[in-house]
Amino acid sequence: MITASTANKSHLPTKISAKDRAKDYPGVLDDSGGKLFCTPCNCVLDHRRKSTLDDHFATAKHSRMVKAAGEEAKKQLTNTEASTSKMVICETWVATCTAINIPLSKSDHPALRKFLNEKVMNGGAIPGFHQLQEMYLGAVYEREKEELKTLLAENLLL
Ligand SMILES: [Zn+2]
Repeated sequence: MITASTANKSHLPTKISAKDRAKDYPGVLDDSGGKLFCTPCNCVLDHRRKSTLDDHFATAKHSRMVKAAGEEAKKQLTNTEASTSKMVICETWVATCTAINIPLSKSDHPALRKFLNEKVMNGGAIPGFHQLQEMYLGAVYEREKEELKTLLAENLLL
């Protein structure tokens, strides 16, 4: 027997919310104010039917956007890695020079520059004397000062 409630029931599983759908596709779909967004494409999708989502995922536009988003993320990561290793080599260089009393200006000496560029990994990332002094000496100096302070404090306690 068909009851009124069964007859009125939509064949769409309306119970499922945009949030539920987003949970099934983390990083791709996102729920915003009860609406389902495809993050890479930046478009709204009907969250009620799974077939709508499958159809969307099968579109050329979607795969293109996902690929573009992935490449963008990869590019950003590589940039961060590169700038971190640059900072490390520069700070280490400044710390080394100060520790053994090599004036930073010697970084501009052609013979030393040749050695850094050719024999030191990432050595080419070390900038000239002025940039070293401006950008890295302060940070290294502050760190050494802190270390010295700790050392002195420890010695005083003994
Ligand atoms: Zn999409």
